[in-house]
Amino acid sequence: MKSEVYFTPFGAKHFDDSILSRLEKMFDRSGAGSIIKEGDLVAVKAHFGEHGNVSFISPVYYRTIIDRIKMCGGNPFITDSNTLYVGERNNAVKHHNIAAKHGFTIETAGAPVIIADGLMGTDFVEVEINGKHIKKAKIASAVYWAPKMIVVSHCKGHMLTGFGGTLKNLGMGAACRAGKQEQHSGQVPKFISDKCTGCGECVEWCNFNAIEIKGNKAVNMPDKCAGCGECIAACRFDAIESNWDVDAGIMQEKMAEYAAASVKNKKRGVFYFNFVINVTPECDCAPSSDKYLVPDIGILGSFDPVALDAACVDLINKASVITGNVSDKESYELKHAEHDKFRMVHPKMDWNSQLKHAEELGMGTREYELIEI
Ligand code: SF4
Ligand code: SF4
Repeated sequence: MKSEVYFTPFGAKHFDDSILSRLEKMFDRSGAGSIIKEGDLVAVKAHFGEHGNVSFISPVYYRTIIDRIKMCGGNPFITDSNTLYVGERNNAVKHHNIAAKHGFTIETAGAPVIIADGLMGTDFVEVEINGKHIKKAKIASAVYWAPKMIVVSHCKGHMLTGFGGTLKNLGMGAACRAGKQEQHSGQVPKFISDKCTGCGECVEWCNFNAIEIKGNKAVNMPDKCAGCGECIAACRFDAIESNWDVDAGIMQEKMAEYAAASVKNKKRGVFYFNFVINVTPECDCAPSSDKYLVPDIGILGSFDPVALDAACVDLINKASVITGNVSDKESYELKHAEHDKFRMVHPKMDWNSQLKHAEELGMGTREYELIEI
């Protein structure tokens, strides 16, 4: 059976045709508010964007959703968990500061920010999932304890999963630091000494002291490496690559199992919005934003996270490609642009693994009906 996915396109035909008013209509028409009872705590799963990133989803959109949650009687809070790597979001104090800098305050977004896994990323609840890879997932406390959740995700590429949408936002973003590490384990990257300038940027970025500069070249220490992949994004000289000897699909399957665990205690108490705007080749964890891959497409919403991600990828793949970004690099296969934008920028990554495994776990279906608002 097909799942319903609601869609409103980006743009405006006239001055009264605001995407924010269409987002309100989508909230009402889709039944998103039906999950909320008077007084419910509602987690709004967000991503505030790393310092230097400008393509994250604006708090203006969150405000619209949060005002709607309040109209339904809910008590919303905005939440995300701390990162594995050194950046501006690896503890709750830094995370609050970057959230405020990017406009996520109670005054602008309309709800308080609560970092889901606490000051140092150690607050979690174990959730039994008995998956192919993960038996008990370590879910960030505030996500676990919130009876209802609205998941707000940004669709874009990702250096380790090819594509990142709802499943990525939930699977990685609802896990505490140890949970993130569990998903990344086995993903120790390759260092290419010929390309390394010895600049040391990767050493600064690694939170696990897993990189040393020896003889003016960066060297990885696999026994310390958590496999978070952040040094790959940090290196401006393409001297660090994912290790394709390890099946990158396994990490996506672990991520899907974490996503399933994060909503296991909520039954039909979760609704999902995906924003298909600012579609960059890399994720919002990157400390910069490349040119977009496609023109802005719109906002989609569903009770089914798998159908939602599938519909978003299909719309992106149908759109015309924008060049002048990382896709222009010789190694990338522009010839694939018309049918798979994420394979175009991450050619060795089958992003579909996460959707397929989430479907096998019973989270939803890749079959959907698109309903335009
Ligand atoms: S960031 Fe890249 S070039 Fe710089 S030291 Fe690390 S691997 Fe070498
Ligand atoms: S060396 Fe390992 S732990 Fe350090 S940033 Fe790279 S992938 Fe992450």
